Amino acid sequence: MSMCAVCRRATQPGLHACPRHTAELRAWLAELPGQARLLEAEFLAPAAAPAQGRIGGTGRATAPVPVDLRVVTLLGPGHADVLGADDDGTVPILAWLGAWAGYIAYTYPAVTRDPYGTAHVQPCDQAWPRHYETITGYCVWLTRYLPYALAHPWVGDLYRQLDTLIRRVRDLTHTVPRRHSQGAPCPRCDAHALVAVDGQLGITCDTCGHHLDIDAYAAHATAYLAAHQAANDTSAA
Ligand SMILES: [Zn+2]
Ligand SMILES: [Zn+2]
Repeated sequence: MSMCAVCRRATQPGLHACPRHTAELRAWLAELPGQARLLEAEFLAPAAAPAQGRIGGTGRATAPVPVDLRVVTLLGPGHADVLGADDDGTVPILAWLGAWAGYIAYTYPAVTRDPYGTAHVQPCDQAWPRHYETITGYCVWLTRYLPYALAHPWVGDLYRQLDTLIRRVRDLTHTVPRRHSQGAPCPRCDAHALVAVDGQLGITCDTCGHHLDIDAYAAHATAYLAAHQAANDTSAA
C-alpha cells in the first residue's frame, strides 16, 4: 500500500501524495510566478510608510529600512540545496526551483539501448530545463514532471519546502488566494469545514483533510440538500 508523504493517508498504489496534497502542489506551482511578480513590484516600488512589524518597536528615531532584505534574497541569485535539512533561512526562489529541476532531471530515468540491444538506464540529460531558467519556466517544467515526482517519497520534501516558500512569499506580498466556504458539511467528518481555494482543483475539509473533486462535491451537496428538504417536509407535515 502506498501512502501520502505529507499526511500519511493511504493513496493509490505507486503514488506518494494524496489528491489533496497533489492539488496543493499543483496550485502552488501555478501561484508562485504571480507571487514573484508581486514581490518584484514591491521591491521596485518606492518605499512609502514602512509596513507594520518590519521595524523593531524600540522607538528609536532611525530611518526606516526602505527595502525588505528578505525580498532581495528571495529574488536574487544564490544557491539552494534540495535534500538538505529544512532550513529556516530564506532561499532564493530561482535557485530553489533550479535545484529541484536539476534533482528531478538527474533522477529521471532515460533508457537507451546500445548497439548490442542492451538497455541502459541513466540520468536523463534531456529532462534538464535548459530553456526555462526563469521562475515561470521552472514552475511550468516542474508541473509537467509532477506525475514523476508524485511516484517518489521525496515528493514530501518538495511539498514541505514549497509550503514554506509560498507562505514566506505570501507573507511579504500580503496576497493569499481566496477561500470559499462550501454549504454542505464534510461527508467524512460532518464538520462544516469544506473549503474551495482559488487556483486549486477540488474541495478540501479543513478539519479532517478529506478531498473531493468538483463532481463528487456537487453530487454530495445535491444529496445533502435533498435529504435536508425531505427532513423539513416530514417535520412540517
Ligand atoms: Zn496527503
Ligand atoms: Zn472532514
